[in-house]
Amino acid sequence: MKYRSTRGSKDNTLNSPSAIIQGLAPDGGLYVPLNFPEPNFKLEDLPKLSYKQIAAMVIALFFNDFSKEQIISSVTNAYNKQWDDRSVVPIEKHNGNFYMELFHGPTLAFKDIALQMLPQLMTRAVQIEKINRDIIILTATSGDTGTASMRGFANQKGTDVIVFYPEGGVSPVQLKQMLSQRGKNLQAFAIKGNFDDAQTEVKKIFNDEAFRERLKQNGYQFSSANSMNIGRLIPQISYYLYTYGQLVRRKEINLGDKVNFSVPTGNFGDILAGYYAKKLGLPINKLICASNENNVLTDFFETGEYDKRRKFHLTNAPAMDILVSSNLERLLFDLYDENDKQIASLMNQLTQRGHYQVNEDVLNELHQIFAADFANENQVKEEIKRVYNYDRYVIDPHTAIGSYVAQQYKQKTNDDTPMVIVSTASPYKFPETVYEAITGRDCPQSGVAAIKKLHEELGGQLSIGVRALFDHEAHMEKIINPENMEAAISSILNLK
Ligand SMILES: *Cc1c(COP(=O)(O)O)cnc(C)c1O
Repeated sequence: MKYRSTRGSKDNTLNSPSAIIQGLAPDGGLYVPLNFPEPNFKLEDLPKLSYKQIAAMVIALFFNDFSKEQIISSVTNAYNKQWDDRSVVPIEKHNGNFYMELFHGPTLAFKDIALQMLPQLMTRAVQIEKINRDIIILTATSGDTGTASMRGFANQKGTDVIVFYPEGGVSPVQLKQMLSQRGKNLQAFAIKGNFDDAQTEVKKIFNDEAFRERLKQNGYQFSSANSMNIGRLIPQISYYLYTYGQLVRRKEINLGDKVNFSVPTGNFGDILAGYYAKKLGLPINKLICASNENNVLTDFFETGEYDKRRKFHLTNAPAMDILVSSNLERLLFDLYDENDKQIASLMNQLTQRGHYQVNEDVLNELHQIFAADFANENQVKEEIKRVYNYDRYVIDPHTAIGSYVAQQYKQKTNDDTPMVIVSTASPYKFPETVYEAITGRDCPQSGVAAIKKLHEELGGQLSIGVRALFDHEAHMEKIINPENMEAAISSILNLK
């Protein structure tokens, strides 16, 4: 299948392995399918299919340049014993909502779903394209992408991972995970700035032609593990299809019934995969975009103005502390009928002036498909407590945002469509906040020690992924200024 950039001519295309290797288009745009595919399944197939089968089906649809064998081996490796639940994505029902648990992978957040897969696709893409340079995976992270991409690419031949995370802007457990990863090909730097600074600088380095040329001379080439990479986005469609099938299978819904998904949102990758699932014919009524106090998207869905000129908040849901949601660009590209010039202009306005406004038609379409709201830090804790009190089910702060916003939505609209909350992280990944929410007391410790405290409170078995956190020592943090990111890369790679 052919791909093109959201900001470039539709005559300028590349195949899926190249799009995955490149990560980001040289014009600054994101890769999207040249023609959005027709579904390769019927709705009634979904209840019969396992997670792996659906994952293989979705990859085959969007990435048909890979052979059947390559797809099957990728899926088999990606969703294997490193998952602590054999179904990969268990679905829980509590207090009238369904919780789609995406955090049973090795780093305890939903990023594993795509980042256990991306390295498989990347190494095979390199073979298909006969590339003999090493691939440098450059990654800006608000915490979870960093840990999951380091884990996914650890010791993968021909790849190096360089992660940039905001100093003081990730949780203690996320920090420990990044600083204790084993693998000769892994590096993580704290930058003096927030996630948006890191992401902006990564995009800049990507689009620095002189630097790209220098890398090439040295036998290297950049790629990205951020959700800007289409190879990361597409595998995320699978869990929407799978969950729908499972709800039918369990007779919670009838085939063809609509469902709502409430999605804790940061960079807009997760919810965009839901939108792609809807485009493939999945009966989704509303996609609910749930934000924290960095609620730029809540305002956008209300007014049609995207305005990043506001205070950046560090919150108890740090993976969503983002003001520039990259993947929104792919949605707008669709709603503007694939008008690349219009998209380039809007994105340019965002960079130059800090805001843009979509037109009336696009705003109306947004209102048809999406609802949006946000939760503040107290509401996050109240929601964790409310859900826990009902039947002792424990959710993490990000999931709590999805859960809270879903509750508000139901009350405001009386929409009684079955509701799936997208559960994006294990509560043990953010133990301090969960402990405080449930006990009403300050958590006396942080990081791995707080996991122990929370576990004492909750009892039960800790998963392998959580137990692994106690095993490894963390390195010292390396802290740099954002403007030195390029220099840091040069020095790691010994560039001439
Ligand atoms: C990354 C992340 C999100 C936000 O997902 P996006 O695809 O960036 O919108 C939400 N919750 C958790 C736990 C995450 O790691």
